[in-house]
Amino acid sequence: MDFDVVTAGAGFSGLYLIYRLRRLGFSVRVFDEALDVGGTWYWNRYPGARCDIPTTDYSYSFDPELEKEWTWSEKYATQPEILAYLGHVADKYDLRRDIQFGTKIESAAWDEEMRGWRLRTSAGDEVTCRFYVAATGCLSLPKKPDIEGVDRFGGEVYFTGRWPHEKVDFTGKRVAVIGTGSSGIQCIPLIAREAAQLTVFQRTPNFSCPAWNGPEDPERVARFAADRDAYRQAARWSRGGVPIEPTDVIGTAAPEEVRRRRFEEAWQKGELFAILNVFADQLVNPASNELVSEMIREKIRSIVHDPETAEALCPKDHPFGTKRPCLDTDYFATFNLPHVRLVDLRKTPIKTITETGIDTAAETFEFDAIVYATGFDAMTGPLVSVDIKGRDGITLKDKWAEGPATYLGLTTTGFPNFFMVTGPESPSVFSNMVVSIEQHVDWICDALDDMRRDGYDTIEPTPLAEEGWHRHNADCANITLHPLANSWYMGANVPGKPRVLYPYIGGVDRYRAACDEARARGYLGFKLTGPGGERCNDGVIRRLQPDVSLVLEAMEAMNLPALETLSPAEARAFMDQSAAIRPPGPAVGSEEDGLVPLDVPLEYRLYRPESPGPHPLVVYFHGGGWVLGSHVSDEPFCRDLCTRSDAAVLSVNYRHAPEWRFPAAAEDAVAAVRWAADNAVELGTVPGEVAVAGWSAGGNLAAVAAQRAGVPLRGQLLLCPVVDCDFSRPSYEENAEGYVLTRALMEWFWDHYCDPPSRTDPLASPLRAASLEGLPPAVVVTAEFDPLRDEGDAYAAALAAAGVPVTHLRARGHTHTSLTMVDVVISSAPVRAEMASALRSLFPSLAPAAAA
Ligand code: NAP
Repeated sequence: MDFDVVTAGAGFSGLYLIYRLRRLGFSVRVFDEALDVGGTWYWNRYPGARCDIPTTDYSYSFDPELEKEWTWSEKYATQPEILAYLGHVADKYDLRRDIQFGTKIESAAWDEEMRGWRLRTSAGDEVTCRFYVAATGCLSLPKKPDIEGVDRFGGEVYFTGRWPHEKVDFTGKRVAVIGTGSSGIQCIPLIAREAAQLTVFQRTPNFSCPAWNGPEDPERVARFAADRDAYRQAARWSRGGVPIEPTDVIGTAAPEEVRRRRFEEAWQKGELFAILNVFADQLVNPASNELVSEMIREKIRSIVHDPETAEALCPKDHPFGTKRPCLDTDYFATFNLPHVRLVDLRKTPIKTITETGIDTAAETFEFDAIVYATGFDAMTGPLVSVDIKGRDGITLKDKWAEGPATYLGLTTTGFPNFFMVTGPESPSVFSNMVVSIEQHVDWICDALDDMRRDGYDTIEPTPLAEEGWHRHNADCANITLHPLANSWYMGANVPGKPRVLYPYIGGVDRYRAACDEARARGYLGFKLTGPGGERCNDGVIRRLQPDVSLVLEAMEAMNLPALETLSPAEARAFMDQSAAIRPPGPAVGSEEDGLVPLDVPLEYRLYRPESPGPHPLVVYFHGGGWVLGSHVSDEPFCRDLCTRSDAAVLSVNYRHAPEWRFPAAAEDAVAAVRWAADNAVELGTVPGEVAVAGWSAGGNLAAVAAQRAGVPLRGQLLLCPVVDCDFSRPSYEENAEGYVLTRALMEWFWDHYCDPPSRTDPLASPLRAASLEGLPPAVVVTAEFDPLRDEGDAYAAALAAAGVPVTHLRARGHTHTSLTMVDVVISSAPVRAEMASALRSLFPSLAPAAAA
C-alpha cells in the first residue's frame, strides 16, 4: 500500500495527525482541496471572522515549546491570526511535505482482499492505504441556499464559508446579508461600516452576547502561565473543553437577585461557556431556560432603539443554547445605524432573488452585493459528500440515510479502518474543537500503535457496541431541550436531513472517559483482526441513563453512609433529611390528610388531580423496605402519578418493622385496600374504580393486597416490587452493589421485617402464591440495574401465565430508585408517563381519554 494512513483535511486535525503519526513511524499523506493549511480558517475569511472560544484555549496543547513561543494578541483571535498560527505550526514541524494541496479525495472504497482503502483523488490518482481518516471538519460543506432564483443575481455574490482571498470592498455599495447565525452576526457590523446601505434578511433571530473582545483575560493568562499542564488537564476533563467550574445553582429555585447576579456576571464575562453556565439546569429545564432567555431579550431591547426592530431581533422560537449561541461585537447596536435595516422574513418571506436584488412578499430590493451567511450541511455533510464505500460496497451515505450511527463518534460498522475526527456522536461542536481534535487524534494514533504492537491490521466496531453508543447519544439528547429547536445541531437546516441530535451532548469529560475506557478494556466493542489472529471484546460502553449515572456519581462523591450500617432510627432520620431537599413534584389539585380507622389507625394523604372529579382511586404504598418511610415519603412520586394518571392517589401508611414485624404491614395493606374500596364514595372518588399501587416494599404490599383484599380492583401497579425472598436470581448478583439498593440493604430489610421461615409465605413473597389466576390486570415496572429486576420479571411472567392481563415496562438504564426521582432523573419521566397511561387505561372513566 502507498501509505499507512491517508487523511482528508489539513486543518487543526490533519496537522496534528501528521505530527503524531510521523513520530510513531507511520507513513501519512494528507489531501486538501485548499491551497494551504488552515481548514475552516482557510475558507472563512469574511470580515469579522474570529474564534469565539478564548484563544488561549483554542490552541494546541501537545507541545509546551509551541505554547511558549506563540502569544495571541487578543482574547478572541481573528481569522488571519489563527491562520498564521496554523501556518507557523506547519512550518515548525515541516508538515507541508506530507500534504497534497488543491486535491480532494473524491471516493474511498474498502478493499477486503487488500485489507485497506483505495482512494481516488480529484487529480485522477488512485492512492491506497491501510487506514483512512476523515479530518474534514464539522462545518466545512456550505449549504447551497434553498432560495428561489439564487443563480439569477447579476451583482457581486459572496458566501461567508467561501470568502475570496483578496479584500472585498463594500464602500458605497448597497449590500444584502442573508442569515443571522454566527457568521452573519460576526460580519454584519463590519460590512455596515463600509456599505452605503445594509439590509439584513433574518429568518430566525439568534441569541448573541457581547464578546467584549480585547486583550486576553489576565486572570486566564496568569492561571495558564502558572501551570500550563494543570490548565490543559482541566480543559481536557471539563464539560466543554474550557476549564470552568460547572454551577450547581438551579434557575427556578434561585432567588431573583442570585439569578440576576449570575446572569450579569456571565454577560460581562463575554464567554459562551459562562452564559451557558448561568444555571445548572438551563439546558434541561424549560422554566430555567426561559429565565436566561428573557434576560438576554431584555438586553437586546435595551440596546436596540426601535422597539419593532428590537422585538424582531428577540429569539422566541427556541430555548437558549439549543441553536448555537453567538458572541458578537456591536451586533445589535448596528441596527441603530440609519443605513442598516432588518427585514423579518417571518413576516415577509423572500419570494425570489432577482437579477438586481431580492423580492420579498412585501417589497422589491435592489442591491450591488449579496452575502450569503446561510450555513453548512453540518457534521455528516462533509463525510457523506465523499463517496465512501465500506465492506460489501455499502456507502456511508446509504448507511446513514436515517441519521449517523457510530461507535464513539470515531468509527462505524461496515467501514473497517475508517476513522472520523470529531465525527457525529462525539462532542465536537459542543466543545472547544481543538481539545476534542487532540483527543481524537491521540485516540486514533494510540489505537494504531496498539494494533501494530499486537499484530492486528484491521479494526471495526461491532453492531452491538455501535447500537449501544447510538442509543446513549439519543438518551443524552432526550433529557435536554435540544430536540425542541430547528437547529443545524438537529439537522433541521438542510431539507430532508434526518432529525437527530448529531453531536454528543454528554460532555467532553465523560466522552473522554468512555474512549479511554474502551481502550483500557481491550478495545471494548471493537473487532481487531490481523496476522496476530482475531480479538473481539464485544459489549456496550454506557448502559445507564446519563442522568442516572450523574446521580450515582454525585451520591458516591457525598460518601453517604450505607443504610444497613445504621440503626432503623438513624436510617429514618437520614431518609427524612434527604427528602427535605428533593424537588417537591408537580402541583396537584388538592391534598388532604386523614386516618384509616383500624385498630392501629393508619395515616393517609389523599392527592386529587386538578381536573373536576370524581376520579378513580389508586391506593398507594410507599417504598422503604418495610422499615423506612411513611405516607408522605414518596410524595413527589405520588403527585406525579396523580397528575399523569388523572386518578386520586391515596398514600396510606402502614406499621413498620422492626417494631412491627411480618405480617403487620401486609395485614395493614389488605385492610386499607378493603376500607378504601368500601369508602370510595366518602373519599369523593368513583365507586368500583379502585386500583392498588406501590413501589419496592410498597409494591410487595400492593401485590399482596391485590391477592388478599377480596374486593374488586381495577388493577395493580407494581413498581420495582419485592415479590420473592430468593436472592439467587442473576440480578442480585449483577446489581449487588453500586446502584443504591444493594444486596446487603435488601438483607437488612428482610431481616428486620420477617423471620426466615416465614419469608416463603405468599403474604411475604407473593410470587409464591398457589395461584395467580383471576387477579386484577397488572402494570409491572422493572429496572435494568435493580437487584429486584428478575423477581419483578418473574412476577410479570407468572401473572401473564395465569391469564392476568399484564403490561410489563422494562426501564432500560434505570435503577431501583431512579424512577421515583421526580424532577431529578429526567429520563425517568417517560417511564412514569407510560406507567400512568397504562394505569389510566384500566379505569373505565378514564380509558376513553387515554385512548384519545
Ligand atoms: P448557521 O448558524 O446555520 O446560520 C445560517 C443562517 O442563515 C441562519 O440565520 C438561517 O436561518 C439562515 N438561513 C439559512 N437558509 C436560509 C434561507 N433559505 N432563507 C433565509 N435565511 C436562511 O450558519 P453560520 O452562521 O455559518 O454558522 C454555522 C456554525 O459555524 C456556527 O453555529 C458555529 O458553530 C460555527 N461558526 C463559528 C464562528 C466562530 O465565531 N467561531 C463563526 C462562524 C461560524 P434559520 O436559523 O432560520 O435556519
